[in-house]
Amino acid sequence: MKLEGAGLALAAMLLAGLAPLAAQERRAAATFDGAAALRHVERLVTIGPRAAGSAGGVRARQYIVDALRTAGVTVRVEPFDADTPHGRLPMANIVAVLPGRRPEVILIAGHYDTKWFREFKFVGANDGGSSAALLIELARRLRERSHEYTYWIAWFDGEEAREAWTPVDSLYGSRRMAGELGKSRRLPRAVIVADMIGDRDLGIRREAASSRWLTDIIWATATRLGHDAQFLPKSLAVEDDHAPFMRLGVPAALLIDFDFPPWHTAEDTLDKVSARSLEIVGNVLLEALPTIEGALTRFRDTRP
Ligand SMILES: [Zn+2]
Repeated sequence: MKLEGAGLALAAMLLAGLAPLAAQERRAAATFDGAAALRHVERLVTIGPRAAGSAGGVRARQYIVDALRTAGVTVRVEPFDADTPHGRLPMANIVAVLPGRRPEVILIAGHYDTKWFREFKFVGANDGGSSAALLIELARRLRERSHEYTYWIAWFDGEEAREAWTPVDSLYGSRRMAGELGKSRRLPRAVIVADMIGDRDLGIRREAASSRWLTDIIWATATRLGHDAQFLPKSLAVEDDHAPFMRLGVPAALLIDFDFPPWHTAEDTLDKVSARSLEIVGNVLLEALPTIEGALTRFRDTRP
């Protein structure tokens, strides 16, 4: 179809009339509070550097736990010791539990530690701050609505390498949790990890190792909500907190905007993060979860 002349004017009128209505419907359907999430980022950044095993890390953990308890969310802290190139460090994962009608678990996770730097003060507004903040608001919303599956929301400690990224110097918190759950045969049915999703200039590519059916659902949801400009079709491979679960055979997806010039620099500050970006990712996740639940139920019911 090619619009010209009068047809174009009609199309413009229709668009002018219809677009606000469509936007209203979207707002009604998806209710993630991006401004509230940005306030959490601000509070975390105010703490300063929040490296695993540091006093700032302890304060960040306390902030997250307090915010969840205030919202009436059941939360537990899982402390552990991690052997790092800088010696044995005390770390702790935080897990919020949001019971559904079924006991099977969908895990939504991200990290709350910031990378340790000797040379400069790293406050990690986007890297560490955005995922921690998004998950607090997500937990609040999931507590308010009914769902079939039980959700665990996890804030992993020690995602960052102390020195260079290696299999033993990285992902301390997620390796710990996946290992414990694997041993006790209580692995989640699916895992979704968010990392660095607060960038003002948001562009999330499909992560290459992630389970295709999960990214398909998430990207289709983004298209439905009008966020094609933020959920891009190209892919890239990133190892992150989803990896330890994938190695144990759990379907998983990573949402990350790795095109972030201030990454691991003193420039990863609050002004780089926007409420709008947090809201887009929050809304896409909230909208995608019922579809993901449906797919998991179909897999289960069709298993021989
Ligand atoms: Zn990082």
